[in-house]
Amino acid sequence: MCGIVGVYSENASKIIADVLQRLEYRGYDSAGAATYDGKINLVKDVGYVGKLVNDILNLSGNVGIGHTRWATHGKVSKVNAHPHVSGDVAIVHNGIIENHHEIKKKINAKCVSETDSEVIAHYLARFENIEDGILSAFNDLEGDYAVVGIKKDVLFGFKKEEPLVVGKTKDGFVVSSDPNSISHVAREAAFLDDYEAFVIKDGKLKFFGPNGEISKKFVKLNPRFAIEKIDGDYTLKEILEQENISIGDPKIEFEKFDKIILTGAGSSYNAALFGSLLFLKNKINSFAVLASEFSNYLNLINKNTLVLAISQSGETADILKAVKLAKLKGAKIYSIVNVPNSTLDRISDKSFYMNVGAEVGVVATKSFTATISILSSFVGEEYSVGDLKEIMKSLWSLSKQLVNKEHIFIIGSGIGFPIAREGALKLKELSYIHAESFESGELKHGNIALIEKGTPVFGIVSDKKIISNLEEVKARGAFVIGISNKNFEVFDYWVKAENPIQWTIPFQILGYQLAKLKKINPDK
Ligand code: GLU
Repeated sequence: MCGIVGVYSENASKIIADVLQRLEYRGYDSAGAATYDGKINLVKDVGYVGKLVNDILNLSGNVGIGHTRWATHGKVSKVNAHPHVSGDVAIVHNGIIENHHEIKKKINAKCVSETDSEVIAHYLARFENIEDGILSAFNDLEGDYAVVGIKKDVLFGFKKEEPLVVGKTKDGFVVSSDPNSISHVAREAAFLDDYEAFVIKDGKLKFFGPNGEISKKFVKLNPRFAIEKIDGDYTLKEILEQENISIGDPKIEFEKFDKIILTGAGSSYNAALFGSLLFLKNKINSFAVLASEFSNYLNLINKNTLVLAISQSGETADILKAVKLAKLKGAKIYSIVNVPNSTLDRISDKSFYMNVGAEVGVVATKSFTATISILSSFVGEEYSVGDLKEIMKSLWSLSKQLVNKEHIFIIGSGIGFPIAREGALKLKELSYIHAESFESGELKHGNIALIEKGTPVFGIVSDKKIISNLEEVKARGAFVIGISNKNFEVFDYWVKAENPIQWTIPFQILGYQLAKLKKINPDK
């Protein structure tokens, strides 16, 4: 999911535009903003925030909202972009309203967009007092949501399952889905829990929930994690920062648990799979589960289970859901997380911090290798990173050979396989070239039909048997690239790499270089 912001202070649009640019790193397809200055002023469109910034800055008023949308319901289009307006109410929404069809019918809403979100605006606009509207919405809306809105010059917000944080600035308030998008202007913030809401009216902030007014604790935000605006080459900067990873000496008391279940999504699932295979090598009973599939494994979870959840942001919805389910079964929750005070950090029994500062580029780079470092330190291993500038220089010629390829395959085995998965993900995310990973032995069972003359196949040589698998694809004409500590005859191209971190980084760099060659913005 994407980003939402609300501002209650003079010239609201200035902060809205600024925070939206800091939320870009989450990925999105459209953006928009609305303010109130006696009437509601609105701008929204598909595409980058940068395109809209001047229009947003022209919106006058001292209260407003903004959004970066990642479409879930309704295509990517201008009318479907947020904010959505109804009467004197405008809202932005992160998440999914599962029963939006029913609600639309029930209140006979005339929606102009195809989103599941617009109905929230029509729903709330029926209430004279916005607090009544919010409390009623808590009863009626099903699904996950963080909503921020304006009703005339009142700013409000409420949430269930999606994050929402209210920050205090020098002269007002700024609200966001991500504390690090506001920590440069708000040093203190309160995190809303599910079924909690706020209104800011006549300069006064009030928190409330179904049982009336509540008081919330404000905590200090750490500006070290402030997200910067994407206007430089963040992916490159973050790849190079991997030389400075420093994780301390984290430890897990494995003997206290009868099994360890690692969970994550995307890159963090690849890290989870790596961790489980590494733990197994060390005779620790463990396996990895995709966070979105976690509910299928609940029968195995009890109070002797440790769930090790991995998330850079600490806000990935699937992971938070998995952890909540595991908690209900009595499991202990440890997390590997980058952002302190994130939801995952707060609901875990113990957190290990990636400690890599803000990750702004949209693909995981330094957070992945920091996680790999933490996981390996649990079993007493340590991997060096290598000289990244040298590796970058040496990979340019390979990037040029790959840039016009349609398909790239990567094979690996054991702890090399999750790295192959991560490598394929980096190539896809950054360069939009189709890349796929296989366990090396699976190649001959059908998949080999995909290999033609010149098809690039990478092999992560964690094991001698990979060499023989590479010989098989070479026989079909594949262009063989070895990621290996020594050069083998079968390689058409050799990338020297000695450990799981060194196996990973070439794929980040190649993805970045391919994006550059194809004129794709790697950060977004
Ligand atoms: N479900 C909403 C939509 O598709 C919001 C998606 C989001 O979180 O950006 O418009």
